[in-house]
Amino acid sequence: MDPHSFFSKEDEKRIVEAIVKAESMTTGEIRVHVDSHSSLSPFDAAVKTFSLLGMDKTKHKNGVLFYILCDDRAFAVIGDRGIDLVVPNGFWDDICVSLSNYFKQGDFAGGLEFAILKCGAKLKEFFPSDSSNEDELPNDISYGKNE
Ligand code: CA
Repeated sequence: MDPHSFFSKEDEKRIVEAIVKAESMTTGEIRVHVDSHSSLSPFDAAVKTFSLLGMDKTKHKNGVLFYILCDDRAFAVIGDRGIDLVVPNGFWDDICVSLSNYFKQGDFAGGLEFAILKCGAKLKEFFPSDSSNEDELPNDISYGKNE
């Protein structure tokens, strides 16, 4: 399917609002990207997309990408090394388990909203919002090609 039609307009709005809310607590940067299909593993495709989106260029190395392959019914969540160094073992696994549970019920927006806010709360512990809290990356969802 065309990745652009994966979310309804309401879903998109809900997800972007969650990103804005999460990022208001932290200097961390959160993005959501949807591709249709990849010949790579979801994790490898996410890593590739992370750099394509310039997410490896944040000042504190604290970008988090929620990456979805809609036709493959797969996803991955990855954080830059600044975050990976500090979050407890199993943090990403817990996030992925929560997401899977929502996704199994077809509630993609609800799952992402939950996971994004959870990430925001965790990022806040290590990367609290500073006076400028510059928005380093756009908050809108990015989409790949219809492959
Ligand atoms: Ca942002």
